[in-house]
Order: sequence, then structure tokens, then C-alpha cells
Amino acid sequence: MSKKIFIVGPVQMYPKTLELRQEDFPYFRTEIFSSVMFDNAKGLAELLGNSKPNNLLFFTMSGTGAMEATVENCVTSGDRALVINGGTFGRRFCELLKWHNISFDSVDLKWNEELTFEHLKPFENRGYTTLFVNLHETSTGQLYDIKMLSDFAKRNSMILIVDAISTFLADDYDMEKYGIDATIISSQKGLCCSAGMSVVALSDKMKEKINKPSSSYFNFNDYIKNMERGQTPYTPAVGVAYEIQSMVNLINETGKDVWLNVIKEKALYFRKKAKDLGLTIPDTYPLSNMLTPVYFEDIDANKIVNMLRDKYDIYINPCGGELGSRMFRVSHIGNTSKEDIDYLLEKLIISIREIKEQSLVK
Ligand SMILES: *Cc1c(COP(=O)(O)O)cnc(C)c1O
Repeated sequence: MSKKIFIVGPVQMYPKTLELRQEDFPYFRTEIFSSVMFDNAKGLAELLGNSKPNNLLFFTMSGTGAMEATVENCVTSGDRALVINGGTFGRRFCELLKWHNISFDSVDLKWNEELTFEHLKPFENRGYTTLFVNLHETSTGQLYDIKMLSDFAKRNSMILIVDAISTFLADDYDMEKYGIDATIISSQKGLCCSAGMSVVALSDKMKEKINKPSSSYFNFNDYIKNMERGQTPYTPAVGVAYEIQSMVNLINETGKDVWLNVIKEKALYFRKKAKDLGLTIPDTYPLSNMLTPVYFEDIDANKIVNMLRDKYDIYINPCGGELGSRMFRVSHIGNTSKEDIDYLLEKLIISIREIKEQSLVK
């Protein structure tokens, strides 16, 4: 068996995008390249449920760069932000807001605690202006209830900023349906491309409210102005732009609903089989279709991750921090099949047995 990647991103890529990686691309300040950027803006806007392709800004940086750019452009020291903090990525928004001296409070969740209406109640009518949420908190797999968050933001006249990096193209997502003012996505997750390009999609309301960021590289207005001609202010990740074009075409040829359903089917297939094999999947909070966490009481999860990698060339995500030795995550995005899942589970069970035996010998 060849290498199998069940990582949240970069993922196991599709043949067409792998081929594109090997190509040289000609100069990009051209109409030919502009047409690729226009295609991407139009295609991604449609997939995001944003009717304004001109409101999409393309950055050459990882997802965190786009999170920081959004903090710089979309809130000021006059704002009061609220962050849903359910893990590594929620904490990252808190850290960025702190760095940029924006006053904020956070709804702090334990790793296995479901976000409910009760958590939001104390923050109603308290003058918050902006809500930040990582809709799928990738560190645990929790998918928050977008309708609940959207209603909360509307009731409180708050701007709604969503890091959708690990839910876009894994679960349903629709900016206009839920009144989302800014969405952050990144090339290496649901889009299944190489890392390097991140996109921020704005509502018209947010576009009007952009302020001057402290760093000039992040200035949203420069990106908006350049996008009118299908360009970016600085050299973009040219190859990734071609990969995105290819993936948007593939998703549209497949049909978005079919695409999402394939991922959902893989998630359900993995979860059912894993449970049948006696593995524990946390059930105290709703999961994104993008990944499944697997929890262990009596064995170091890191050892399993390492054994799968070293012995079988199979890659799954460890968890960070306190969860590190208790849990790992298996991604369902990317070019993997149910046969690949069978193979993973087979090697997973063998590895668990072997690690348990080793610990008995000692
Ligand atoms: C992957 C991810 C990011 C971006 O991380 P980078 O390493 O900066 O690309 C941000 N938010 C969430 C929810 C993610 O899953």
C-alpha cells in the first residue's frame, strides 16, 4: 500500500492537483492569470453562499495569517469582541485580539463540552460588537450550531466573523443564509490544495466597515482594489491559484451536495466501524464531518499515531496539549476511499494490540 493521509490538511490530494504541482507557470501580471483569479473568486463565492465574487480577498499566507488580517481590518480598539473558545483555534483568536489590543471576552469550553444557548445567555445585551468563532473547532472536532450563533449575533447587532477553515467543503456552509460578515478559508483544508493561499470573503456590510490595519501587507482595501482586475497587490501563490481552479471545477462537476455527501459517508462509515471495533468516539458534542476524534483511557494515543506512521506510512493527526496522549483525529477530507478507511482501521487495531502487549512486557 502506498502512503495514506488522513490529516486535516494538507490532505491526500487529487491526481489533477498533484500534476499541477509539477508545472512551471508563466508571468502572472497577465490577463490569462487574472482569468484564473476571477474563476476562483466566482467559484468560491458560489460555494460559500456569497453572491459577491468581488468581496473575496486572496492572501498568500496560512490560515492564521488570514485570521490576523481579519482581526486587523475588521475590529478596532472601539470594538468589544466575544470569542467562542473551545480549543486551540478559539484560543488563537483570543491571542490575536490580545496582541492587537482589542478588548474581548471569551466563552471558554472544556474540550468535551457542547456549546449551548446557556453559554451565550450571560453575553446578551452587553454591548459586544463582534462575534468571532471557529465554526468547526478542529482541535476537538466540535461543530458549533451556526443557526444559534447567527441568531445571537443578529439579536445583538453584532458583526459575525467565522473561521470556516475546517468546515467549508466538509459541512454545509452559507454566508448569506446566516448573515455571516466575514469568512476565513484556506487552501490546504476542504479545498484539498497545497498550503499557501487563504481567502477572506466579506459581506457588503463588512466591506463598508473595513478600517486601516496596522500592517500595510494586510490592507484589505488594497486587495479589494486589485481584485477588480483579477490581481493581488503582491505575488500570489500562483501554483496554488491554479490548484484551486482545478478543485473548484472538480467539485462543481461532481456537484457540491454530492461532494459533501461523500465526505459525510466516509465519516459515518469510519465512526460505525470504529465503534464496532470497540473504539471510543466522544459523544458529548456534535462533530463536523471533516474529522473523527478517537479517545483512549488506557493507552498513549501518540504512540498509535507514531506507529501508524513509522510502520505503515499512514498519517493521522495527534491532538495537542493536555489531550495529546488521550486522543487522535482522523480526517475524512481529501482523496481517500472507504477501502483506505478499512486499511487504516485494520492497521490501527494491530497497532493498539502491539502497544498494549509492549506495555505488558515492561
Ligand atoms: C487549519 C486551521 C487554521 C489555520 O492554521 P494554519 O496552520 O495557519 O494554516 C485556522 N483555523 C482552523 C479552525 C483550522 O482548522
